[in-house]
Amino acid sequence: MSETPNTAFSLEGRKVWVAGHRGMVGGAIVCRLAQEPCEIVTAGRETVDLARQTEVEDWMENARPDVVVVAAAKVGGIGANDSLPAEFLYDNLMIEANILHGAWRTGAAKVLFLGSTCIYPRLAPQPIPEDSLLTGPLEETNQWYAVAKIAGVKLCDAYRRQYGADFISAMPTNLYGPFDNFSLENGHVLPALLRRIHEAKEARARSVTVWGTGKPLREFMHVDDMADAAVFLLRHYSREGPINVGTGREISIRELAETIASVVGFEGTLDFDSSKPDGTPRKLTDVGRLSALGWQASTELRGGLEQTYRWYLDNLAGTGLERARPAAGG
Ligand code: GDP
Repeated sequence: MSETPNTAFSLEGRKVWVAGHRGMVGGAIVCRLAQEPCEIVTAGRETVDLARQTEVEDWMENARPDVVVVAAAKVGGIGANDSLPAEFLYDNLMIEANILHGAWRTGAAKVLFLGSTCIYPRLAPQPIPEDSLLTGPLEETNQWYAVAKIAGVKLCDAYRRQYGADFISAMPTNLYGPFDNFSLENGHVLPALLRRIHEAKEARARSVTVWGTGKPLREFMHVDDMADAAVFLLRHYSREGPINVGTGREISIRELAETIASVVGFEGTLDFDSSKPDGTPRKLTDVGRLSALGWQASTELRGGLEQTYRWYLDNLAGTGLERARPAAGG
Protein backbone atom coordinates (compact mmCIF):
# COMPACT_ATOMS: atom_id res chain seq x y z
CA MET A 1 0.00 0.00 0.00
CA SER A 2 1.37 3.37 -0.95
CA GLU A 3 1.92 5.91 1.81
CA THR A 4 2.33 8.79 -0.60
CA PRO A 5 -0.52 11.29 -0.73
CA ASN A 6 -3.18 9.44 -2.68
CA THR A 7 -5.68 12.21 -3.19
CA ALA A 8 -5.54 15.86 -3.98
CA PHE A 9 -8.95 16.90 -2.73
CA SER A 10 -9.52 20.62 -3.07
CA LEU A 11 -11.43 22.60 -0.46
CA GLU A 12 -11.84 25.54 -2.79
CA GLY A 13 -15.44 26.73 -3.00
CA ARG A 14 -16.65 23.80 -0.87
CA LYS A 15 -19.31 24.06 1.79
CA VAL A 16 -17.81 22.42 4.88
CA TRP A 17 -20.00 21.42 7.83
CA VAL A 18 -18.10 21.03 11.09
CA ALA A 19 -20.43 19.01 13.33
CA GLY A 20 -19.51 19.68 16.96
CA HIS A 21 -18.12 23.18 16.44
CA ARG A 22 -18.73 24.09 20.07
CA GLY A 23 -16.38 21.41 21.31
CA MET A 24 -12.64 21.89 21.71
CA VAL A 25 -11.75 19.98 18.54
CA GLY A 26 -14.58 21.21 16.33
CA GLY A 27 -13.89 24.80 17.36
CA ALA A 28 -10.20 24.49 16.51
CA ILE A 29 -11.07 22.95 13.13
CA VAL A 30 -13.43 25.85 12.35
CA CYS A 31 -10.58 28.31 13.14
CA ARG A 32 -8.13 26.39 10.97
CA LEU A 33 -10.61 26.10 8.08
CA ALA A 34 -11.09 29.87 8.17
CA GLN A 35 -7.67 30.05 6.46
CA GLU A 36 -8.96 27.97 3.54
CA PRO A 37 -10.98 29.15 0.53
CA CYS A 38 -14.10 27.28 1.67
CA GLU A 39 -17.44 28.18 3.24
CA ILE A 40 -17.92 26.89 6.80
CA VAL A 41 -21.35 25.96 8.09
CA THR A 42 -22.27 25.03 11.65
CA ALA A 43 -25.45 24.19 13.53
CA GLY A 44 -25.88 24.49 17.28
CA ARG A 45 -27.89 22.09 19.40
CA GLU A 46 -30.83 24.48 19.33
CA THR A 47 -30.97 24.01 15.52
CA VAL A 48 -30.34 20.28 15.23
CA ASP A 49 -30.11 17.52 17.82
CA LEU A 50 -27.50 15.24 16.28
CA ALA A 51 -28.79 12.20 18.15
CA ARG A 52 -32.12 12.42 16.29
CA GLN A 53 -32.07 11.03 12.80
CA THR A 54 -34.92 13.00 11.27
CA GLU A 55 -33.50 16.29 12.55
CA VAL A 56 -30.07 15.49 11.10
CA GLU A 57 -31.50 14.36 7.77
CA ASP A 58 -33.73 17.40 7.43
CA TRP A 59 -30.89 19.76 8.29
CA MET A 60 -28.49 18.08 5.87
CA GLU A 61 -31.07 17.95 3.04
CA ASN A 62 -31.40 21.67 3.43
CA ALA A 63 -27.75 22.62 4.03
CA ARG A 64 -26.23 20.10 1.55
CA PRO A 65 -22.61 20.34 2.71
CA ASP A 66 -19.92 19.12 0.27
CA VAL A 67 -17.60 18.18 3.12
CA VAL A 68 -18.48 16.98 6.62
CA VAL A 69 -16.19 16.83 9.64
CA VAL A 70 -17.63 14.66 12.42
CA ALA A 71 -16.16 16.30 15.52
CA ALA A 72 -19.38 15.98 17.52
CA ALA A 73 -19.27 13.41 20.28
CA LYS A 74 -20.01 12.78 23.91
CA VAL A 75 -16.52 12.93 25.41
CA GLY A 76 -14.96 12.87 28.86
CA GLY A 77 -12.18 11.51 31.02
CA ILE A 78 -11.82 8.24 32.82
CA GLY A 79 -14.33 9.20 35.54
CA ALA A 80 -17.07 10.26 33.11
CA ASN A 81 -16.62 7.20 30.87
CA ASP A 82 -16.85 4.82 33.76
CA SER A 83 -19.92 6.42 35.31
CA LEU A 84 -22.01 7.26 32.20
CA PRO A 85 -21.73 4.09 30.07
CA ALA A 86 -25.17 4.34 28.46
CA GLU A 87 -24.66 7.96 27.41
CA PHE A 88 -21.20 7.31 26.03
CA LEU A 89 -22.35 4.35 23.93
CA TYR A 90 -25.82 5.50 22.82
CA ASP A 91 -25.09 9.18 22.12
CA ASN A 92 -21.97 8.45 20.16
CA LEU A 93 -23.54 5.68 18.09
CA MET A 94 -26.52 7.85 17.22
CA ILE A 95 -24.52 10.98 16.40
CA GLU A 96 -22.10 9.23 14.06
CA ALA A 97 -24.69 6.99 12.38
CA ASN A 98 -27.02 9.92 11.70
CA ILE A 99 -24.31 12.17 10.28
CA LEU A 100 -22.55 9.53 8.19
CA HIS A 101 -25.78 8.21 6.73
CA GLY A 102 -26.98 11.76 6.09
CA ALA A 103 -23.70 12.58 4.34
CA TRP A 104 -24.14 9.62 2.05
CA ARG A 105 -27.79 10.44 1.33
CA THR A 106 -26.99 14.02 0.43
CA GLY A 107 -23.94 13.08 -1.65
CA ALA A 108 -21.15 14.69 0.38
CA ALA A 109 -17.87 14.56 -1.55
CA LYS A 110 -15.73 13.94 1.56
CA VAL A 111 -16.27 13.06 5.20
CA LEU A 112 -13.72 13.07 8.00
CA PHE A 113 -14.82 11.07 11.04
CA LEU A 114 -12.91 11.66 14.27
CA GLY A 115 -12.45 9.02 16.95
CA SER A 116 -9.75 8.41 19.50
CA THR A 117 -6.81 6.07 20.04
CA CYS A 118 -8.81 4.40 22.84
CA ILE A 119 -10.40 2.29 20.07
CA TYR A 120 -7.28 0.12 20.15
CA PRO A 121 -6.85 -2.90 22.47
CA ARG A 122 -5.74 -2.19 26.03
CA LEU A 123 -2.56 -4.18 25.50
CA ALA A 124 -1.90 -3.20 21.87
CA PRO A 125 1.74 -3.13 20.76
CA GLN A 126 3.36 0.24 21.52
CA PRO A 127 3.54 2.54 19.68
CA ILE A 128 0.06 1.52 18.54
CA PRO A 129 -0.23 0.80 14.82
CA GLU A 130 -3.54 1.23 13.02
CA ASP A 131 -3.71 -2.48 12.22
CA SER A 132 -3.97 -3.43 15.89
CA LEU A 133 -7.65 -2.47 15.73
CA LEU A 134 -9.84 -5.36 16.97
CA THR A 135 -6.92 -7.64 17.81
CA GLY A 136 -7.60 -7.78 21.57
CA PRO A 137 -9.83 -6.72 24.46
CA LEU A 138 -10.48 -3.02 25.09
CA GLU A 139 -9.59 -1.03 28.19
CA GLU A 140 -12.60 -1.54 30.51
CA THR A 141 -12.94 2.06 31.70
CA ASN A 142 -13.59 3.58 28.27
CA GLN A 143 -14.96 0.59 26.37
CA TRP A 144 -18.34 2.29 25.84
CA TYR A 145 -16.87 5.21 23.98
CA ALA A 146 -14.41 2.93 22.19
CA VAL A 147 -17.09 0.51 20.91
CA ALA A 148 -19.10 3.43 19.52
CA LYS A 149 -16.04 4.91 17.79
CA ILE A 150 -15.05 1.52 16.34
CA ALA A 151 -18.56 1.32 14.88
CA GLY A 152 -17.96 4.77 13.35
CA VAL A 153 -14.72 3.65 11.70
CA LYS A 154 -16.50 0.58 10.34
CA LEU A 155 -19.41 2.69 9.09
CA CYS A 156 -16.96 4.81 7.11
CA ASP A 157 -15.38 1.67 5.68
CA ALA A 158 -18.76 0.14 4.87
CA TYR A 159 -19.99 3.23 3.00
CA ARG A 160 -16.68 3.33 1.14
CA ARG A 161 -16.98 -0.30 0.11
CA GLN A 162 -20.65 -0.44 -0.73
CA TYR A 163 -21.16 3.03 -2.20
CA GLY A 164 -17.67 4.26 -3.06
CA ALA A 165 -18.13 7.15 -0.59
CA ASP A 166 -14.96 9.09 0.27
CA PHE A 167 -15.32 8.70 4.05
CA ILE A 168 -12.11 8.68 6.11
CA SER A 169 -11.47 8.22 9.85
CA ALA A 170 -8.72 9.78 11.96
CA MET A 171 -7.86 8.73 15.52
CA PRO A 172 -6.31 11.54 17.54
CA THR A 173 -4.29 10.85 20.65
CA ASN A 174 -5.19 12.67 23.92
CA LEU A 175 -5.83 16.30 22.94
CA TYR A 176 -5.71 19.47 25.03
CA GLY A 177 -5.93 23.22 24.56
CA PRO A 178 -8.29 26.20 24.87
CA PHE A 179 -12.00 25.35 25.28
CA ASP A 180 -11.20 21.99 26.87
CA ASN A 181 -13.46 20.69 29.64
CA PHE A 182 -11.83 21.76 32.91
CA SER A 183 -14.19 19.71 35.11
CA LEU A 184 -12.35 18.18 38.06
CA GLU A 185 -14.49 15.05 37.98
CA ASN A 186 -15.35 14.57 34.32
CA GLY A 187 -12.51 16.18 32.40
CA HIS A 188 -9.44 14.49 30.98
CA VAL A 189 -6.28 14.41 33.03
CA LEU A 190 -4.52 17.45 31.58
CA PRO A 191 -7.24 20.09 32.02
CA ALA A 192 -8.37 18.54 35.34
CA LEU A 193 -4.83 18.71 36.74
CA LEU A 194 -4.20 22.18 35.36
CA ARG A 195 -7.24 23.42 37.22
CA ARG A 196 -6.64 21.42 40.41
CA ILE A 197 -3.03 22.54 40.61
CA HIS A 198 -3.96 26.16 39.88
CA GLU A 199 -6.61 26.09 42.61
CA ALA A 200 -4.14 24.48 45.05
CA LYS A 201 -1.70 27.31 44.34
CA GLU A 202 -4.39 29.96 44.86
CA ALA A 203 -5.45 28.30 48.13
CA ARG A 204 -1.79 28.02 49.20
CA ALA A 205 -2.35 24.28 49.72
CA ARG A 206 0.67 22.17 50.64
CA SER A 207 -0.28 19.27 48.38
CA VAL A 208 -2.50 18.34 45.48
CA THR A 209 -4.08 14.97 44.64
CA VAL A 210 -3.32 13.21 41.38
CA TRP A 211 -5.46 10.17 40.52
CA GLY A 212 -3.86 6.74 40.17
CA THR A 213 -0.22 5.78 40.59
CA GLY A 214 1.27 8.39 38.25
CA LYS A 215 2.92 5.60 36.27
CA PRO A 216 0.68 5.34 33.19
CA LEU A 217 2.20 6.77 30.05
CA ARG A 218 0.22 9.06 27.80
CA GLU A 219 0.78 11.19 24.71
CA PHE A 220 -0.68 14.71 24.57
CA MET A 221 -1.22 16.79 21.45
CA HIS A 222 -2.34 20.41 21.18
CA VAL A 223 -5.73 20.75 19.53
CA ASP A 224 -4.39 23.24 16.95
CA ASP A 225 -2.11 20.48 15.67
CA MET A 226 -5.16 18.22 15.38
CA ALA A 227 -7.01 20.89 13.43
CA ASP A 228 -4.09 21.27 11.05
CA ALA A 229 -3.93 17.47 10.60
CA ALA A 230 -7.67 17.41 9.87
CA VAL A 231 -7.28 19.86 6.99
CA PHE A 232 -4.24 17.93 5.74
CA LEU A 233 -6.15 14.63 5.79
CA LEU A 234 -9.16 16.10 4.00
CA ARG A 235 -6.82 17.16 1.23
CA HIS A 236 -4.43 14.25 1.00
CA TYR A 237 -5.92 11.09 2.43
CA SER A 238 -8.48 8.64 1.11
CA ARG A 239 -8.53 5.05 2.25
CA GLU A 240 -10.20 2.50 4.51
CA GLY A 241 -9.43 2.08 8.18
CA PRO A 242 -8.30 4.58 10.82
CA ILE A 243 -5.25 6.81 10.55
CA ASN A 244 -3.54 7.85 13.79
CA VAL A 245 -2.85 11.49 14.63
CA GLY A 246 -0.35 12.11 17.42
CA THR A 247 3.02 13.46 18.35
CA GLY A 248 4.77 10.12 18.80
CA ARG A 249 6.10 11.31 22.21
CA GLU A 250 4.95 10.08 25.61
CA ILE A 251 5.18 11.20 29.21
CA SER A 252 4.15 9.62 32.53
CA ILE A 253 1.20 11.08 34.46
CA ARG A 254 3.69 11.96 37.23
CA GLU A 255 5.90 13.92 34.81
CA LEU A 256 2.83 15.60 33.36
CA ALA A 257 1.70 16.68 36.84
CA GLU A 258 5.22 17.96 37.62
CA THR A 259 5.36 19.92 34.37
CA ILE A 260 1.95 21.45 35.04
CA ALA A 261 3.04 22.35 38.58
CA SER A 262 6.07 24.10 37.14
CA VAL A 263 4.02 25.99 34.51
CA VAL A 264 1.46 27.05 37.14
CA GLY A 265 4.12 27.88 39.73
CA PHE A 266 2.82 25.47 42.40
CA GLU A 267 5.52 24.53 44.86
CA GLY A 268 3.69 21.98 47.05
CA THR A 269 3.83 18.22 46.78
CA LEU A 270 1.89 15.78 44.62
CA ASP A 271 -0.09 13.02 46.36
CA PHE A 272 -0.99 9.98 44.28
CA ASP A 273 -4.40 8.45 45.06
CA SER A 274 -4.08 4.85 43.96
CA SER A 275 -7.71 4.13 44.83
CA LYS A 276 -8.54 5.92 41.55
CA PRO A 277 -8.15 3.95 38.29
CA ASP A 278 -4.98 4.17 36.23
CA GLY A 279 -6.71 3.18 33.01
CA THR A 280 -4.63 1.68 30.24
CA PRO A 281 -0.92 1.44 31.22
CA ARG A 282 0.47 3.00 28.07
CA LYS A 283 -1.05 4.73 25.05
CA LEU A 284 1.41 5.95 22.45
CA THR A 285 0.33 6.17 18.84
CA ASP A 286 2.36 4.94 15.92
CA VAL A 287 2.30 8.01 13.69
CA GLY A 288 4.32 6.41 10.90
CA ARG A 289 1.50 6.42 8.38
CA LEU A 290 0.74 10.12 8.80
CA SER A 291 4.43 11.10 8.91
CA ALA A 292 4.99 9.22 5.66
CA LEU A 293 2.27 11.36 4.09
CA GLY A 294 4.24 14.44 5.17
CA TRP A 295 2.49 15.76 8.30
CA GLN A 296 3.95 16.25 11.79
CA ALA A 297 2.76 17.87 15.00
CA SER A 298 4.63 21.08 15.81
CA THR A 299 3.59 22.18 19.34
CA GLU A 300 5.94 21.19 22.18
CA LEU A 301 4.13 20.10 25.35
CA ARG A 302 5.60 22.75 27.63
CA GLY A 303 4.76 25.61 25.26
CA GLY A 304 1.29 24.17 24.67
CA LEU A 305 0.71 23.94 28.43
CA GLU A 306 1.82 27.54 28.94
CA GLN A 307 -0.56 28.74 26.22
CA THR A 308 -3.44 26.65 27.60
CA TYR A 309 -2.80 27.90 31.15
CA ARG A 310 -2.84 31.52 29.94
CA TRP A 311 -6.13 30.83 28.20
CA TYR A 312 -7.53 29.24 31.35
CA LEU A 313 -6.48 32.25 33.45
CA ASP A 314 -8.03 34.67 30.96
CA ASN A 315 -11.28 32.77 30.46
CA LEU A 316 -12.18 30.43 33.28
CA ALA A 317 -10.09 30.84 36.43
CA GLY A 318 -12.17 32.14 39.30
CA THR A 319 -15.45 31.95 37.35
CA GLY A 320 -16.52 28.60 38.84
CA LEU A 321 -17.24 27.47 35.25
CA GLU A 322 -15.73 24.32 33.80
CA ARG A 323 -15.92 25.31 30.18
CA ALA A 324 -16.21 28.50 28.17
CA ARG A 325 -18.94 27.31 25.82
CA PRO A 326 -21.54 24.56 25.96
CA ALA A 327 -20.39 20.98 25.44
CA ALA A 328 -19.95 19.50 21.97
CA GLY A 329 -22.68 17.54 20.29
CA GLY A 330 -24.30 20.31 18.33
P1 GDP B 1 -7.42 8.07 29.45
O1 GDP B 1 -6.19 8.60 28.77
O2 GDP B 1 -8.46 7.60 28.48
O3 GDP B 1 -7.10 7.04 30.50
O4 GDP B 1 -8.17 9.28 30.18
P2 GDP B 1 -7.80 10.41 31.27
O5 GDP B 1 -7.24 11.58 30.57
O6 GDP B 1 -9.05 10.65 32.03
O7 GDP B 1 -6.77 9.78 32.32
C1 GDP B 1 -5.42 9.54 32.07
C2 GDP B 1 -4.67 9.12 33.31
O8 GDP B 1 -4.51 10.24 34.18
C3 GDP B 1 -5.23 7.99 34.19
O9 GDP B 1 -4.13 7.17 34.56
C4 GDP B 1 -5.75 8.74 35.41
O10 GDP B 1 -5.73 7.94 36.58
C5 GDP B 1 -4.75 9.88 35.52
N1 GDP B 1 -5.21 11.05 36.27
C6 GDP B 1 -4.55 11.66 37.28
N2 GDP B 1 -5.25 12.68 37.79
C7 GDP B 1 -6.39 12.77 37.04
C8 GDP B 1 -7.51 13.65 37.06
O11 GDP B 1 -7.61 14.58 37.86
N3 GDP B 1 -8.47 13.45 36.13
C9 GDP B 1 -8.38 12.44 35.21
N4 GDP B 1 -9.35 12.30 34.31
N5 GDP B 1 -7.34 11.57 35.18
C10 GDP B 1 -6.36 11.74 36.08
